[in-house]
Amino acid sequence: MLLETRSGKTRMESGPNVGEVARVFTGEGLSIPQLRTALNGQVIAPDDAEYDKARTVFYGGFDRRPAVIVRPADEADVSHVVSLARENDMELAVRSGGHSLAGHGVSDGGIVLDLSDMRALHIDAEGRTASAQAGLTAGEYTAAAGAYGLATGFGDTGSVGIGGLTLGGGVGYLTRKYGLTIDSLLAADIVTADGRLLHVDAETHPDLFWAIRGGGGNFGVVTRFQFRLHKVNTIVGGMLVLPATPDVISSFVAEAEAAPDELSTIANVMTAPPLPFLPAEYRGKLITMAMLVYAGDAEAGQRAIAPFRALATPIADMIRPMHYPEIYPPEEGGYHPMAVARSMFADAVDRGMAEKIIDHLHASTAQMAVTQIRVLGGAMARVPAEATAFAHRGRRIMMNVAAMYGHPDEVAVHEDWAMGLAAALCPGEGGVYVNFLGDEGEARVRGAYPGATWDRLAAIKARYDPTNLFHLNQNIPPAVD
Ligand SMILES: Cc1cc2nc3c(=O)[nH]c(=O)nc-3n(C[C@H](O)[C@H](O)[C@H](O)COP(=O)(O)OP(=O)(O)OC[C@H]3O[C@@H](n4cnc5c(N)ncnc54)[C@H](O)[C@@H]3O)c2cc1C
Repeated sequence: MLLETRSGKTRMESGPNVGEVARVFTGEGLSIPQLRTALNGQVIAPDDAEYDKARTVFYGGFDRRPAVIVRPADEADVSHVVSLARENDMELAVRSGGHSLAGHGVSDGGIVLDLSDMRALHIDAEGRTASAQAGLTAGEYTAAAGAYGLATGFGDTGSVGIGGLTLGGGVGYLTRKYGLTIDSLLAADIVTADGRLLHVDAETHPDLFWAIRGGGGNFGVVTRFQFRLHKVNTIVGGMLVLPATPDVISSFVAEAEAAPDELSTIANVMTAPPLPFLPAEYRGKLITMAMLVYAGDAEAGQRAIAPFRALATPIADMIRPMHYPEIYPPEEGGYHPMAVARSMFADAVDRGMAEKIIDHLHASTAQMAVTQIRVLGGAMARVPAEATAFAHRGRRIMMNVAAMYGHPDEVAVHEDWAMGLAAALCPGEGGVYVNFLGDEGEARVRGAYPGATWDRLAAIKARYDPTNLFHLNQNIPPAVD
């Protein structure tokens, strides 16, 4: 099949002509002018004015210099670049929103394929589906779907890309009501390592469709997702700030577990940042800064949230009925924190664990230290573990301990701190959500894929990416026969 490009040129869907590849990439390397001619999208080279901005990812501390950054305009561009990288054995970093904790969206040398110019979105409000190019952010998608009173659940931050978030699973404000993001994924278009553009769904390439629902960027470049939309118009939600005492923290978790599925919560136990709505006497002290979303009737929402408000006198209570997209407030541009994090699952957060959290947070020397607690369950837990590559369906709580710091020399200190707290909270716990992994080694990646999941993913990887072209990610090497 031929693809129509923006400039009106047509190309083979099965990928670029290999002869053309050889002309674009010689043994001496990359010819930027030829690449510019070959592609419809933007090609950014090291001597271009926007190069430094274009190589910057969300997290600071990744001062990497790719040979070229390509912002494809269409699937044909993606296919071209994938084949170029494969034919020339070049490192390939794939990026949508650029929020990888491990900095996988930028490489030293090689090609960065940055999908941020592919942001088309088509909403079929009647059919309750959305066709979304992978370069959209969660906030952009949510604002557009919100205009129809519809939503697909993503995470807690609007600037995160739907690309990386969806491929890892997607845990957020609608998880207990509508499941993970992948539970609303109906189909995807993906360019595989051989440069082919495949449409995958439950019937077509079902193995690949299974793998990309949790298996991350290991299997190709997703150019487009088709999502189910849910009726989510006005929610009751927002921020509730409570004191950080062992009783408040453990009771908050117990209430969140007992709450109806409509209510999803994220509690951050952290040092109070200098925000205008926080009374001055709390600055620098530990607080429980929680986000709550009740996706349902307003009165029932207020009833469901009442027990949280009653845990202690709130330091700030900004929970109100709101249009769902308001849950993603505007973000500060140019914010690039350096951070270390350690994520894990837990079965409970009791008073003793809450005490440990408080003690460790007090002991941290980071600019900002936080323990995030997300109560899972609900719709997410009703999907069988083997139905997708996200197999931690039965885990009740997800925790993330993180430290933000100001200088690269400090990394070892904060890593020790994060690992110390994780070990104190959940000794021996190996399970982890892939999207909350940093650069932590193969054993930790395996922890994201329990049971038979790892072997099944490795076999599918061998089928679609036998040379491990897509390895700059939480990597699942291809199975060897
Ligand atoms: C501030 C912040 C808040 C977060 N909150 C949440 C949350 O609430 N819930 C949650 O589930 N996660 C959350 N995350 C984690 C987030 O889901 C991951 O970091 C995710 O990988 C980010 O996706 P991205 O597209 O922005 O990142 P990128 O760095 O662009 O991508 C990450 C990786 O995903 C793969 N990838 C990305 N796009 C594609 C594509 N189109 N095709 C193939 N592979 C691709 C690549 O391997 C890439 O290295 C958060 C992260 C941050 C920094």
